[in-house]
Amino acid sequence: MEVLPLQSRDRTGGRLYIVSTGPGDLQQMTPRALKALAEADSVIGNAFYLDLVEPLLAGKEVITSSMGREVERAKKALERAEHETVAMVSGGDAGVYGMASIVLEVVERSGSSVPVEVVPGVTAALSAASRLGSPLSGDFVTLSLSDLLTPWEVIEERLDLAFRMGVPVALYNPRSNGRPENLAKAVAIARRHATPTTPVGVVKNAFRKGEEILVTTLEAFEDRLDFVDMRSIAIVGGEESRLWRRDADVRGIITPRGYHRKYVY
Ligand code: SAH
Repeated sequence: MEVLPLQSRDRTGGRLYIVSTGPGDLQQMTPRALKALAEADSVIGNAFYLDLVEPLLAGKEVITSSMGREVERAKKALERAEHETVAMVSGGDAGVYGMASIVLEVVERSGSSVPVEVVPGVTAALSAASRLGSPLSGDFVTLSLSDLLTPWEVIEERLDLAFRMGVPVALYNPRSNGRPENLAKAVAIARRHATPTTPVGVVKNAFRKGEEILVTTLEAFEDRLDFVDMRSIAIVGGEESRLWRRDADVRGIITPRGYHRKYVY
């Protein structure tokens, strides 16, 4: 099957960029994402992510859409993209628990031939990992604890399978006001397979105002779940993850890739 490149169809008129804005600091956006935003006549997104890129929006029409209105937002973006350059912004990477898939589905269902480009970005697991040291150095799993679009039973089963693998697990959407108990349930599942001393790192607002970092162990984390909110991501280490120390201080988490088994250093 030949894949028709999304962005290279012959056509005059508008286009649609799905722009990943990274964790929140403009310095963490890619040059391509900056250029796509610069080219856009209008920019559409939810208020929180639009605020983060506010310095890049001068002179553009800005369309704010609220959380939970993603389908409507995708349709509105496509409608405009028939005749102008539209940037739909999505935090982190638009393709990771973001807006890319719903926009592409809406484009597909409409039969539109508007050129679409998905512009990648730094997803929260990776921006948070960099703040913690190097907890995701090899294989790792990401899971979202949000049961808005995925049934909780499915999430529980995936959690069990993930922690059974013994690799680090990054938990997106770890704790909302609506369902604060999901995180405690996830930690209980982790405890079935991981030792109590397994390192856990939480980064709240990575690369944004209000950034906070917690490094603890799986056992002690059970008493610190209040630290976690929806602007946080939690990384539970794998079998080989360990605390990164300097004397008595904990600096973060390292998951060795295995160089120590091959080299002397
Ligand atoms: N597309 C986004 C994820 C959207 S889901 C991405 O690729 O990062 C929203 C969840 O992402 C939040 O609940 C939180 O768990 C995580 N998240 C997004 N940005 C974050 C940041 N700057 N710091 C910490 N967690 C973040």
